[in-house]
Amino acid sequence: MSVFAEPVDTSDLRDNVALVTGGASGLGRATSLALAAAGVEVVVADVAVDAGKAVAEEVGGHFVECDVRSLEANRAAVASCVSLCGGLDYVYLNAGVATGCGVGEDFSEELYQRAMAINLDGVVFGAHAAHGALKARGGGAMVATASLAGLLAMPLDPIYAANKHAVVGLARALGPVFGGEGIRFNAVCPGFAESAIIADARADLVKAGFDIIPAETVAETVVRLLADPRVNGECWFVQPWREPEPFRFRNVPGPGARPTS
Ligand code: NAD
Repeated sequence: MSVFAEPVDTSDLRDNVALVTGGASGLGRATSLALAAAGVEVVVADVAVDAGKAVAEEVGGHFVECDVRSLEANRAAVASCVSLCGGLDYVYLNAGVATGCGVGEDFSEELYQRAMAINLDGVVFGAHAAHGALKARGGGAMVATASLAGLLAMPLDPIYAANKHAVVGLARALGPVFGGEGIRFNAVCPGFAESAIIADARADLVKAGFDIIPAETVAETVVRLLADPRVNGECWFVQPWREPEPFRFRNVPGPGARPTS
């Protein structure tokens, strides 16, 4: 059953090509399956080679080894989409990790750099690398995985919150920029969802009363954001027991705001 009262028409996706980073597991795997079910040719990109190849086989698609921290690796993944599938239309910039350190005595420069490189550089590099290929097809759409941690304070992992807020800002700003070229750019902001990233904390989260979102619900939201021509520059939250929708950034003062009296 659809999580949306009015499921989006995905027929335009059929026979197009999508690149999914972090596609070997969790939300990336679920989205690869959902895209394939909609008739999309999927290219799974990941550092996890065996798991990535298994997903590619499951969806009848392709696997490319890609560490999203490297701009060159992102360019090579896009080049593989073009050579294997003839072009690229949709991109899900999803690879991400929890940080594993804080900012106080528990700080680790290595873990900090790793998390920022995967969760933020990976999205920027992926968007840059794919931009030309989507433009060459006359347009397309990209979705980045931010998080609810990109919309609210998440003391559990402040560095994660910082890079996910950055992805939210990127989506809001880049949507209108790329939109002029027919390329929509949105972010998905899930709460706690079924995947390896929450495995260590899952039992405590459930004990604390959190419902865990099925990965398929996030995947359906991503497919909607890729397919819906009306959606651009938006950040859609996904929570248990309610329909995903764009977060409305209320009452943010604009740079030109002046007192009215
Ligand atoms: P996951 O651990 O199951 O999947 C993450 C995938 O990213 C793995 O396949 C991993 O191999 C890949 N990856 C890690 N580093 C990489 C790199 N350098 N280059 C390429 N691939 C790399 O976890 P998930 O929950 O499916 O994570 C997907 C995204 O969803 C992440 O961006 C995560 O921050 C975000 N997210 C997850 C949740 C949740 O509760 N599961 C909530 C909000 C946002």
